[in-house]
Formats: sequence, C-alpha cells, structure tokens
Amino acid sequence: MRVLLAGGAGYVGTHTAVALLNAGHEAVLLDDLSGTHAVAAERVAQITGTSVPLVVGDAADDAVVSGVFDDHGPFDAIIHLAAFKAVGESTQKPLDYYSNNLDTTYALMRVGLARGIRSFVFSSTGTVYSDPADLPFTEESTTSIDLSNPYSKSKRMNEVVLEDIARVNPDLNVTILRYFNPVGAHPSGLIGEDPAGIPNNLMPFVSRVAVGSLEQIGIFGDDYDTPDGTGLRDYIHVVDLAEGHVVALEQAQPGFAVFNLGTGTPVSVHELVTSFEKAVGRELPKVVLGRRPGDVAATYCDPAKAERELGWKAQLGIDDACRDYWNWQSTNPNGYAGA
Ligand code: UDP
Repeated sequence: MRVLLAGGAGYVGTHTAVALLNAGHEAVLLDDLSGTHAVAAERVAQITGTSVPLVVGDAADDAVVSGVFDDHGPFDAIIHLAAFKAVGESTQKPLDYYSNNLDTTYALMRVGLARGIRSFVFSSTGTVYSDPADLPFTEESTTSIDLSNPYSKSKRMNEVVLEDIARVNPDLNVTILRYFNPVGAHPSGLIGEDPAGIPNNLMPFVSRVAVGSLEQIGIFGDDYDTPDGTGLRDYIHVVDLAEGHVVALEQAQPGFAVFNLGTGTPVSVHELVTSFEKAVGRELPKVVLGRRPGDVAATYCDPAKAERELGWKAQLGIDDACRDYWNWQSTNPNGYAGA
C-alpha cells in the first residue's frame, strides 16, 4: 500500500512510518515541522534503509495536500496524525486547537475523497471516554464531547465528523484509533519523542530529570483512590502503537470502525518512576505535589476488540518503554535539535 502520513515526522508518525516500511508498504510524510524536525524523517530512512519523502507543508491547506497527491500519489490511504496535542496549551489557545485539529481533517478528507483513497485512519484518544464507572474502557463505553480540555474535545469532534463522512461514502474505510498513553521509543535510539519546552507528560518529564535538564519529578497527587494513591494510566509502547496502525490499514474493511490501542494494564505514577529509575540505574529526585487540575484517578482500556478483529496485541511493557525512552533520551539529550 502507498500511504500518505500527515504529521508523519512527529513522535507517532516516525514510528508508524518505520512500521509501514518494514511491512513492505510505501510512505510519504507530510508535516509542517511545527512540533518536530526534518532530521526525524532522515532517521526513519536510516532505520529502514528505504528513502522516505518528506513534504514540508500544512495538512490543513487543500492546495498543499493536492500537491502531495500530484507529486507523490496516488495513495491507497491517509493516516492522519497532524494535530496540536499539548493538553494544557489547548486550554489557553482553544481557537488554534479547534481550527488546526479539524481543518487538517477537512482538507485531507476533501482531497483524499476526490483522489480516490480507500482508507482514512485517524489518531484519536482514550480521553474521549467520560464515565469512570465503565473502566476498563471498551469501544462501547460512554463518550462525551463535554471533556476537560479543547484538545480532547477536538479529537471527539473529529470522530463525529468522520463517522458522518463514512456513512455517505460506503466504499471508504474510516478507522478511528483511540490511543491511551504513548511512551517509549524505537529500540535503535534514532527516533523518539521530542517535546518543545518543559514536557507536560510524565515519561518525558521523568526523562528530562534523568538527563539533568530538569531538577526533580513532581508527582501530581498521592491521595487518589488507587492502590498506591497515584494516578493509573495505560502506557502503550509507541512501537506497538505504530504496529496497530499497520494492521488497521491492512485489514481495513469499507465502513466505520473504532479500536482502542492500549495494553489493558494500568500502571501508577510511582510504578512508572520506579521502572525508569531501573532503566537509568539510579534513584531520581522526586517530590509529591498536589493534584493537577483536570486529571482523573485512572484511565485504561480493554484492548480485546483489536486483538479479536485485527490480531493486534501490545507486546511491550512499561520496563521496555522506560529502557527505550532512556536509550533515545540519553543518546539525544537535546532531542533532534542536537542532531
Ligand atoms: N503526572 C505526574 N507528574 C508529571 C506529569 C504527570 O505525576 O510531571 C501524572 C499525572 O497526574 C497522571 C500521569 O502522571 O496521573 C500521566 O500523566 P500524563 O500527563 O503523562 O498523561 P495524561 O494525564 O494525559 O493521561
């Protein structure tokens, strides 16, 4: 298959590109480089030994997307990963988040439909589930649009839009992948997560403390109703997540489908920090702080549908993710900027 990867130079995009190329598919990356660097695409080529074109441009611009089809098409499928994703920032810049995260879908879908794509895979989030009574979340669990931040709302809005588009395009496959918490890095250490500024998410923050660019880990609350009092999340290794995109594409049937991509195993903040300390080989400075506004005590999925229907199951655990994240961070202490 020939695949247009929008947001292809980002964290999930680069790993998905590697997985696609390793499975014998072809990929073209479209990325505006607002959250990553061009060198990320070169690293994909280095890992796979396959050239992978990078088009630098805005996936929300029909003319840009048409240009990619003109120069690099035809494509069988689009995987749409081009989004702003900083939850905290989204509450400060709602217009930017709604506009970017929806306009990209509109442009990619308009051009993709006109050019005859067969499949459209969309990167969504497990934060669309809204009722903790449903844990572990299945694809049938209650979703809401009334979520705690514009980032999550923009993802749920996309899902609604895409389901309507799928309904009137019965030959098209539209697959929604609801990610839980992506972590880890490719075992080569050549690609990984490279957040700008001070990271909001736990593993990149812990990793920056380990590399010495941040002072100490702040644990956001240890008085939750969880086994050790800290928050529980479903951390999925980005290599497993990437593989999920490949199988979703390979097995895509016409129609609308939704899959959770997670491990199904909840891991606490304390457990993640301990696992990371093991990877680094020393204890890391940490302090317990108050709860972060908007956080839930626990979120994790039931990934059985993806196993049943796609034959996909996460293979890697939190220790693998910490080892691989640390390998990437310690060999690229300044991310791609230092390359
Ligand atoms: N967390 C923390 N310190 C940090 C960042 C996150 O204790 O510096 C906690 C957070 O409260 C949550 C878990 O780690 O329980 C995962 O947070 P993250 O932001 O990575 O993911 P999300 O909350 O969006 O699922």
